[in-house]
Amino acid sequence: MTGVKSTEIDEAAAALAAGRLVAFPTETVYGLGADATSDEAVARVYEAKGRPVFNPLIAHVPDLAAAERLVVFTDSARRLARAFWPGPLTLVLPRAADCPVSLLASAGLDTLAVRVPDHPLALSLLRAVGRPLVAPSANPSGQLSPTTAQHVREALGGKVSVVLDGGPCRVGIESTVVDLSGERPVLLRPGGVSTEAIEAILGPMAAPGEGPIRSPGQLESHYAPHLPVRLGATRARPNEALLAFGPAVAPAAVTLNLSPACDLIEAAANLFAYLRRLDRPDLAAIAVMPIPETGLGRAINDRLRRAAAPRPGGDR
Ligand code: AMP
Ligand code: MG
Repeated sequence: MTGVKSTEIDEAAAALAAGRLVAFPTETVYGLGADATSDEAVARVYEAKGRPVFNPLIAHVPDLAAAERLVVFTDSARRLARAFWPGPLTLVLPRAADCPVSLLASAGLDTLAVRVPDHPLALSLLRAVGRPLVAPSANPSGQLSPTTAQHVREALGGKVSVVLDGGPCRVGIESTVVDLSGERPVLLRPGGVSTEAIEAILGPMAAPGEGPIRSPGQLESHYAPHLPVRLGATRARPNEALLAFGPAVAPAAVTLNLSPACDLIEAAANLFAYLRRLDRPDLAAIAVMPIPETGLGRAINDRLRRAAAPRPGGDR
């Protein structure tokens, strides 16, 4: 297997299980891998890539059975999985009720993207870890996707514990992303599996933008909590929950602190789970303390601004 020894895979699997980052080859590009079930490990991926927003990530699994533990499959999803997995096809499906994957990987959505990569090293690693892995392209945000281990070392070397070298990637283009969580299948991103091949199984797909808007970022206030969100708060008003950051000077009756120590990785890891916990019908709003606009703080603030944006048609 392209010169990578099983001890290297074991070492990489141990690093992943300890919450560290490991770059590994897939058939599309090199992925920046992390334990998808760990909020902190997923936060480290966003921080290493320097992404200014939380784009949802793909959970990589070794087979269909492992995917069925994360998301709710439909018949057509199963047909696509049988036809194209392992391979460059990503399916977006509703998260299972007991889905162990971090909400941060879903960027707070009720859906999760899943895929089985077609690469012997990636599959060995997934089996060795025994957990799903997020693995966006292993490059800083805005730079070219890496198709060799050397690309990864040059761009992200200091941030990954292990780089598994599987030689150049075969496909070199990203996976096709199909959203099967709504009434009609939607092609979210063309990629390694052709639209024709998918439509031969599914029938016609809608393009993003046709029908209801479902891709994150397309609508300012999408995926906001039900409660109004008030930014830049120093203290909560009566009936408000407080989402604190740093030393909370005036905790409210209902307070969750993203990071008492002002650690932005910890804050990112907690963000979506805490927003959900504070989104209670017995409260009037969520007051959010200021978060610095640096590093991961930019992605956190981007999401909070969307959550606080005016809602089309009043409440959702
Ligand atoms: P990558 O950067 O290759 O990891 O690709 C992730 C792509 O899948 C991005 O374009 C995301 O917008 C898309 N994606 C991942 N999860 C979801 C989801 N739950 N809903 C919609 N799109 C998703
Ligand atoms: Mg990329």
